[in-house]
Amino acid sequence: MKQPGDINANGQQLLRVTAAKGNDFNARVWVLKCRRCGEVYGCNGADAWQRKCPRCQQAAAGLPIPAERDGEKWTREEHIIAFNLYSQIPFGSIHMNNPKVIELAALLGRSVGSVSFKLSNFARLDPTLQARGIRGLQHGAKGEEAVWDEFANNSEQLAFESARLLAQYLGQTVEEAAEIDVSDLPPPGVEREAIVRLRVNQSFFRRRVLSAYKFRCCVTGLPMPPLLVASHIVPWADDAANRLNPRNGLCLNALHDRAFDRGLMIVDEGLRVRFSQRVRNEAADAGDSADWLLAFDGRELILPPKFSPDLTLLARHRERWRTAA
Ligand SMILES: [Zn+2]
Repeated sequence: MKQPGDINANGQQLLRVTAAKGNDFNARVWVLKCRRCGEVYGCNGADAWQRKCPRCQQAAAGLPIPAERDGEKWTREEHIIAFNLYSQIPFGSIHMNNPKVIELAALLGRSVGSVSFKLSNFARLDPTLQARGIRGLQHGAKGEEAVWDEFANNSEQLAFESARLLAQYLGQTVEEAAEIDVSDLPPPGVEREAIVRLRVNQSFFRRRVLSAYKFRCCVTGLPMPPLLVASHIVPWADDAANRLNPRNGLCLNALHDRAFDRGLMIVDEGLRVRFSQRVRNEAADAGDSADWLLAFDGRELILPPKFSPDLTLLARHRERWRTAA
């Protein structure tokens, strides 16, 4: 156990080595994260190899986590990583007890309060929240605005860069940090890199959309993440500029996602779900098995508190399938 990313036999992962003094002879504080329960805590560097988790393995309490960079100016890299996290936290969950906020603070060497403040500043720039009269903080720094604009104008590159930076801090590969499936990837090379980049960005889009909808299907309200899909309104291949735009996404269960993707279901001007005549005809012969699918015909979408779907993109979806219906 020497560098960030290493994990000891008890499932404790090294996040960061600090220069702060521990409470043992000559020891420095190392920051560990429990892979079992997510607890983040400090310990003496010399003990790290055999440390157990204070929360779930009944070990001694951890040392305070040093926040030695607190008060220093935020770098562009830190802003990019913070924006990545902001994009994945549901509205209303940015606070000092959020485990993701605590972990990012430990990783950057900043106080939990300052990370939480930074994330709240991003909310100030969110157009959807501004439209609802949520102003966020009035005195945000320039760094947030610069990164927000960069993401808006160059989202594919920035999304991947943010995942790569986060992986670097964690001592992991970008594949590990973004939790993407690598079992079917070709060996290292140009082709693999291109696929990894694509999957990392698709995973970013999925997290962004699902967290915006608080992990509930916007048609049925189903709150089961393994059955949920971040559905593109205008397909990935058809509009490069809107590939990672969360307002080009709907959080749908897998069945309604397929129906939407194939134009069997559209969203009308009043944001109500409508099924095509074809589906309704076929459902008549399908008995009970199609009930759940069609039960939501005419229902209004359950809109998310942020990143609500773009009406012009929904109109493009309708137009695309108008003749097919
Ligand atoms: Zn634990």
